[in-house]
Amino acid sequence: VAAARLAERGRRVCLLEMGSSYHPGDFPNYFLEITRMLRVAGGRFGLGKRNNLFQLHAGKDIHVLRGCGLGGGSLINAAVAMRADEHVFSMPGWPDEIIADGLINAAYELAEGMLRVSPCPDAAGLTKFRALERTAAVHGQAVTPLQLTINFTGNAAADRPACNYCGNCWAGCNVGAKNTLADTYIAAAVDNGADIRINSEVSHINEGSDGWLVNVVDAEPIAAKVVVLGAGSLGSTEILLRSQQHGLAVSPSLGEGFSANGDAMLFGYDVDVPVNGVATGHPARAKTETVGPNSAGSFTIEGNGDDPRSRVIIEEGVLASVLTALAPVSMLRRGRVGNAIKCLLQGPYKGALNNTQTFFAVSHDAASGCMRLENDRLNIAWPDACEQPVYERIDEILSTSVEAMGGRYARNPLSDGAGKPPVTAHPLGGCKMGKDRTSGVVDHRCRVFDASNDNGEVHKGLYVCDGAVIPSSLGVNPLLTITALAERAMMLME
Ligand SMILES: Cc1cc2nc3c(=O)[nH]c(=O)nc-3n(C[C@H](O)[C@H](O)[C@H](O)COP(=O)(O)OP(=O)(O)OC[C@H]3O[C@@H](n4cnc5c(N)ncnc54)[C@H](O)[C@@H]3O)c2cc1C
Repeated sequence: VAAARLAERGRRVCLLEMGSSYHPGDFPNYFLEITRMLRVAGGRFGLGKRNNLFQLHAGKDIHVLRGCGLGGGSLINAAVAMRADEHVFSMPGWPDEIIADGLINAAYELAEGMLRVSPCPDAAGLTKFRALERTAAVHGQAVTPLQLTINFTGNAAADRPACNYCGNCWAGCNVGAKNTLADTYIAAAVDNGADIRINSEVSHINEGSDGWLVNVVDAEPIAAKVVVLGAGSLGSTEILLRSQQHGLAVSPSLGEGFSANGDAMLFGYDVDVPVNGVATGHPARAKTETVGPNSAGSFTIEGNGDDPRSRVIIEEGVLASVLTALAPVSMLRRGRVGNAIKCLLQGPYKGALNNTQTFFAVSHDAASGCMRLENDRLNIAWPDACEQPVYERIDEILSTSVEAMGGRYARNPLSDGAGKPPVTAHPLGGCKMGKDRTSGVVDHRCRVFDASNDNGEVHKGLYVCDGAVIPSSLGVNPLLTITALAERAMMLME
């Protein structure tokens, strides 16, 4: 976002990205393909190339999934674009200005325009959408279509194909129908002359003689008057923690406020209605009824009493084609030998697995995880992550409906039977916004507070514009709010 907006203003922009560049056709369709594009790291161990596209931070307290490549998480996300409810910005931790100046609404509009957000026009006709209607009906709720960063109409002139409903959005779109950051903001930055450097990992930043020095692994440092960190919740926090070790005066709250956005992936195995919930991928691995985009609809269970933080949103999803091979393994791990054999005999596109619902839940948690560097590696400490009350509530909502639909409720296979550790694809916080350097790392304009004195000053020309600045869970999928806050910061940049 910052690269696009600054290049548009005629500034000389250099964008550094740790990962590679990916295009339609580069994304995996089969399990073996994804294993070659995966990095799993935690504590002292790391498997796979450091800058592989799919990154699993395997922690003791929480696992985090994220994307690494030009376009970041947008390359492999499910494209759900929701605005946060206004009440979120009045939750503890948010600076007053976010609500007070109203700019956030204009920023959301800009973000929605750039990412070309629209609902799936055929959502209500999709089998998996209708299956979710049954799930929602158990709780007296209705399903509504989701807004998505996907092209459904196609635009031949702009070489933008329409979605073909293969369902593999979060393994990466091989059709080219998803409006990733690479296709939108980064493309706009390039059009305005930005210099893009892939496979460039930033280690830390120092104050230079006239601005900043950005230190890049295995390359010469780069001098810049303005530095905007956009390396994500884990990435930007890691860079600032290392910069702090090199002498940068940053808030003592750096690393705090990690949230998983009350996010969870769950399953209703072999329910008694057709689901058609396994992605065929592109090129299609099987001829089936139309699957649809990964998530096309959702329903909401309102909070207990007046507390909007206990609200839960349930979205329907798809089992990505790359993961079908793991389903029988995961069943065996849980002791479900019969199910595993059934699944192997029927294959993914018929019977039990094809009638399995994938759910994504988003809600609120306490945002009380803490990131620190240990032996120069990022660690997330959050001992009671899996005891966040919201997970029990999500279990209650979904297990009731899955049982009512004759299926078996299952949690994410990366967690144990008790849901430990939780897995999130929505990491937030670490460089949270705040009123001052005690409560936050950045101010409402995303400027990094200077912690060297008590004057409330900010470091001139140093910004963080990504999920790291969000000081609470959002209760909705985060990409649109992250984009809008970056747009807002750019509106306010002098
Ligand atoms: C499988 C999956 C599905 C998701 N589905 C949705 C969804 O439907 N809707 C939604 O709203 N959100 C979704 N998300 C979450 C969403 O994609 C993220 O919240 C969002 O991408 C975060 O944006 P960001 O700018 O904070 O960081 P990122 O998108 O993570 O971007 C950070 C970038 O910085 C790079 N980087 C990191 N460290 C360094 C370094 N040291 N030097 C140089 N570069 C570095 C990374 O490689 C990456 O490209 C999903 C995420 C995943 C993984």
